[in-house]
Amino acid sequence: MGGLAALAAATMREALNRYWGFDTLRPLQAEAVEAACAGRDSLVVLPTGGGKSLCYQLPPLLRGPGEPAFTVVVSPLIALMKDQVDGLVLAGYPAAALHGAVSPNDAANTRRAVDRGEVKLLYVSPERLLSEGFLGWLASKRVAAVAIDEAHCISQWGHDFRPEYRRLAELRDALPGVPVHAFTATATPRVREDIAAQLNMVDPAILVGIFDRPNLSYRVLPRIGNGEEQVETVLRRHPGEAAIVYCISRKQTESMAETLVSRGFSAAAYHAGLDGNTRSRVQDEFLGERLDVVVATVAFGMGIDRGDVRAVIHASMPKSIEAYQQETGRAGRDGLPAECVLLYSSSDAVKWSQLMERSAAEAEVPPAPAVLRAQRDLLFQMQRFAASARCRHQALSAYFGQACEPPCGACDVCNAELEEFPDSTTVARKILSCVARLRDPYGAAYVADVLRGSAQARVTQRGHDQLSTYGLLKEVDKDTLVSLIDQLVDIGALVRDEGEYPVLRLTGVASAILKGTQPVRMLRVRPSEVLVATDKKRRRDKGAALNPEEQALFEELRLLRRQLADERGVPPYVIFGDAPLIEMAQRRPGSIDALATIKGVGAVKLEQLGERFLEVIVAWAAERNVPLNVGASAGRPAPPVAPRDPNETNKSRLAAFAMFAQGAPLDEVAATLDRARSTTQQYLAEWVSREAPESIEPWVNAANYDAIRVAAEATGGERLKPIFDALGGNVPYDDIRLVMAHLRA
Ligand code: ADP
Ligand code: ZN
Repeated sequence: MGGLAALAAATMREALNRYWGFDTLRPLQAEAVEAACAGRDSLVVLPTGGGKSLCYQLPPLLRGPGEPAFTVVVSPLIALMKDQVDGLVLAGYPAAALHGAVSPNDAANTRRAVDRGEVKLLYVSPERLLSEGFLGWLASKRVAAVAIDEAHCISQWGHDFRPEYRRLAELRDALPGVPVHAFTATATPRVREDIAAQLNMVDPAILVGIFDRPNLSYRVLPRIGNGEEQVETVLRRHPGEAAIVYCISRKQTESMAETLVSRGFSAAAYHAGLDGNTRSRVQDEFLGERLDVVVATVAFGMGIDRGDVRAVIHASMPKSIEAYQQETGRAGRDGLPAECVLLYSSSDAVKWSQLMERSAAEAEVPPAPAVLRAQRDLLFQMQRFAASARCRHQALSAYFGQACEPPCGACDVCNAELEEFPDSTTVARKILSCVARLRDPYGAAYVADVLRGSAQARVTQRGHDQLSTYGLLKEVDKDTLVSLIDQLVDIGALVRDEGEYPVLRLTGVASAILKGTQPVRMLRVRPSEVLVATDKKRRRDKGAALNPEEQALFEELRLLRRQLADERGVPPYVIFGDAPLIEMAQRRPGSIDALATIKGVGAVKLEQLGERFLEVIVAWAAERNVPLNVGASAGRPAPPVAPRDPNETNKSRLAAFAMFAQGAPLDEVAATLDRARSTTQQYLAEWVSREAPESIEPWVNAANYDAIRVAAEATGGERLKPIFDALGGNVPYDDIRLVMAHLRA
């Protein structure tokens, strides 16, 4: 916080505590707030859940008397805007919103409040901002800054281009000299540059956060059939918890939702073709925790947001890694473990290509060839991600230009959940020679029918039952066979025509395989993973390692939260997120003062809601005769039980992070979590990079720290070996790695 004067820093801490109940800013938030206070344009790229909103909500509270504080936030997500404003007002923050869903009467009141200088933060939809006379009205106010949320919508190189965002440049002319702060969760360097250019930014502070989300686990599974059973399997792991299932088409969302409902899930479809009432009902029920599963099309998931989403399932591949990152980013926004499962078939890419072509043909202004090429490229990269066997955390980080070293402990690749399909090369040869024998090109389902020896008329009438490859793979079921054919497309042995029917053709790679000069490795999900997934006894709890007693209190607190939310007409997460409730369930605060120390409980909410929560906690403890004000140790997450389970492994990583935050020594962490010292060391280095703690004294003594720093300066600090050598081999690599991580952070 070097750039902020001591006074401002004190004001900041007070505001943070009063309105949000937080003690400190995250490192990147601090830089963003500093840029805002200095009146400098900025572009902040932080993953979903990274804490972007605080970056524009806090600065207006830090302005001195006489300085303008009034800040305008442009956001395309009306539902989110409404919830954010409700949450801020509940915390005592002077915020308001103007958009299409606000009644004319309320809008007039809001404008008058702005005229009187009573509003510090005004959320506006782009449509309203660009409507007749609005910019003129704004120009007559003393606007301190403009914040633009979801700023990637301005770029046609991104995945969610919105033409109305293009016109935001008009803001600059209407409000000369007013700094602009852009925020987005997903932006490749090209999109970043485009955002800065489109908004005519002047020497912007470009702040890019860490993209990896350690609390998410990723899996990519070959889709079997329409994927409904696989979706069900994942959802069974999350009984009563929130989940989002993404599909490509509206029809698919409806049939999927129908199936899920018939199997006893609380599920509903959500897509652009539904009328506005149905859409907002589904959304309200989901946010209000009365609906668990939303089955949505990718285009219309944006307004859906809930901090405690425990699973995001893609029933088909999304059209870009940015889209994937953003959609999976909706899982675990509260920082607790959540899982992301992608069901993949290479035919998805064909479907997207066709959709892109159709929408280009139907567009009023046809997109430039370069834009179409860029879209195809994004699609191709997504396909490569899905088909590759590289650590998912690493691959996603790399896409956004960041490093993340495997094993992550939280993806299908690192946890070796896939295994080689038995006799892959032979099976591949059988498939390819069947395609060759058919002479005319056919689709994957037909090829599978022939290989399985189907007696269907369409096969026999063509005489394909006479082929030597007929029935050659009888023992493999059809869905699996189609998934194997998909994998042959992924490795380039087959290509899919993008004509009316996606038929298969052989390539040069296929000839090499058929000649026997190239081995093939096709994958299937390890049977044990299927077992684990279907074993209903292994249902996980909240993932926050609550013991049964804590879990019971947590459920009670959730009920109270829902009641308070209903009383106020806001979604429950606006009252409190899961994290503060979990901490309450673990620590059982017995007084207002104790409650105030829970992270996420701000002063105004404490005053308004504190007694209600205390009542429940105190009564609950009295009834069961258990003590209040449990010591901090109870808040420490329990060690994991099943080390191979990705969520469990990841949990232990998060548990290690929590212990490091308390300064626990390495050996203690390793012992408590039952992890190897080297693994724990790796967690520590990662934690240091991520959190940039003030000091790493508990793990490296001061003398070594200084020696390493000096040696790093002398050797350039790029590589560890020269530093090790410069220190005469007397300082362990572990220390060097850690100090370098700290210096870089
Ligand atoms: P984004 O807009 O980037 O998706 P949010 O602003 O919704 O992220 O914040 C994500 C979560 O992180 C919220 O639950 C928020 O309360 C929490 N959070 C944000 N900043 C902090 C902080 N400095 N300390 C603790 N929690 C924070
Ligand atoms: Zn991994």
